[in-house]
Amino acid sequence: MQSIDNLLITPDRSLRDALAAMSDGACNVLLLIDDAGRLRRTVTDGDLRRAILAGHGLDTDLGVLPDQAPKLVEPDSSSAAVLALMNAHGIDQVPTVDEDGRPVALHLRRELDQPVLLSTPHLAEHERDFVEQAFRTNWIAPIGPNVDAFERELASKVGMGHAAALSSGTAAIHLGLHLLGVEPGDRVFCSSLTFVATANPIRYLGAEPVFIDSEPETWNMSPAALSRALAAADAEGRLPKAIIPVGLYGQSPDMEPIIDLCHRYGVPILEDAAESLGAAYRGRAAGTFGRLGIYSFNGNKIITTSGGGMLVGDDPELIERARFLATQSREPAGHYEHQETGFNYRMSNILAGIGRGQLEVLDERVRQRRAVFERYVEGLEGVPGLDWMPEPASFHSTRWLTAMTIDSDRFGSDLEGLISHLADGRIEARRVWKPMHRQPLFKSAAYWPHHATSSVSDRLFETGVCLPSGSNLDSVQQERVIQRIRERARPSGRFWSSSTLSLG
Ligand SMILES: *Cc1c(COP(=O)(O)O)cnc(C)c1O
Repeated sequence: MQSIDNLLITPDRSLRDALAAMSDGACNVLLLIDDAGRLRRTVTDGDLRRAILAGHGLDTDLGVLPDQAPKLVEPDSSSAAVLALMNAHGIDQVPTVDEDGRPVALHLRRELDQPVLLSTPHLAEHERDFVEQAFRTNWIAPIGPNVDAFERELASKVGMGHAAALSSGTAAIHLGLHLLGVEPGDRVFCSSLTFVATANPIRYLGAEPVFIDSEPETWNMSPAALSRALAAADAEGRLPKAIIPVGLYGQSPDMEPIIDLCHRYGVPILEDAAESLGAAYRGRAAGTFGRLGIYSFNGNKIITTSGGGMLVGDDPELIERARFLATQSREPAGHYEHQETGFNYRMSNILAGIGRGQLEVLDERVRQRRAVFERYVEGLEGVPGLDWMPEPASFHSTRWLTAMTIDSDRFGSDLEGLISHLADGRIEARRVWKPMHRQPLFKSAAYWPHHATSSVSDRLFETGVCLPSGSNLDSVQQERVIQRIRERARPSGRFWSSSTLSLG
């Protein structure tokens, strides 16, 4: 919907005034109102063109246009109903009026039709300055002052000693596991409910992933499952070389019990905070709890360099070694000297410039994502069968993606039905990650559920969905999402559970 203040016009104004108003309002429709402020008709640029072709001069007033009852929609009509009316009449805008016939809103097809995406890049003010500086000094690649500064600035932002800027979060996990000594035949424990990028690097190193379930309180690694898995591995004499807890959808795992367990068995942690940069756990930044941590700056993440990652740690030698390995393990010598296999994993000076600008607005992005979440909670209040991803006390989630589960009996539609209803309205919603232990790729891998008899990540996959959550999602777009979910829901207060019915 569009603010209509600039679009109101009276019949005593001229065709010229109307053209100027369209040009000022960057809109090709005006609302012609009478003395009492009631809507007489809409005026499009086509109407003006036809008046001029019919021989009226630009100074003719709008009173010359024939009366024409406007097509209207009720104030609380759904986007689908508005679009249906537009399609039925071949028009691109539909006003809404109050009970006295005064216009209150204007729906535009281009707004209703625009796709609403899950999470899109959101640039700020200074990225361009840093990138321009790189151009000006011809410091485009490979590494350079932006890379050094981005590493320093990010490390200080999260409160970790050191950071190495890399080409992706996946590269950071790969290098991190390599630095922790993971070798062919080793085991690595890893959250099952995650994006495949967490687990792939385990295979790159010829190691074997063992998947750990989520807990219901955080949706992240279950300390209960981890405890059983470690005890069993210890009994076998085959402890993992590393453990990768993942911070899903902007929220840290419950790190304290995980750290305790890892200390007890002497296993290092590599924290995958690709989705949780900006989050905190007991007042400390997500990604800083392990021996190493990683972040991602992929296009959909909370801040982005278009593509990139960061490996962080407190041990300066470990991070220095990461930088060495990431530049083809080139020995310090006048010629090209190599003793070990390296990688081409460094971030470029250009992309680090984007990252520096993005880092300046990280806190703002967290506030914006959290505000998106709050608007969903408010807008969907009273809809039966919806449960939000929980945020326990002493956790501070970024709500990178707003995630919820639906109880399809109470909600009135199953998950796929809801997602395709949203897709029909050009709204992108995605199922929660399909757990790694259910992927054909990892069908041979071991899996430790939260309870011996029930798997939390399976339930989250079967019932969970992520809603459009970008920090640049505007309230009109978000209202479309909310309306469409409400359309699909069972009207609240008119629901009897199947158990109630079966009592009769
Ligand atoms: C995005 C993501 C990654 C990978 O980061 P890239 O920069 O895309 O390689 C790793 N783990 C998780 C959980 C992610 O969401």
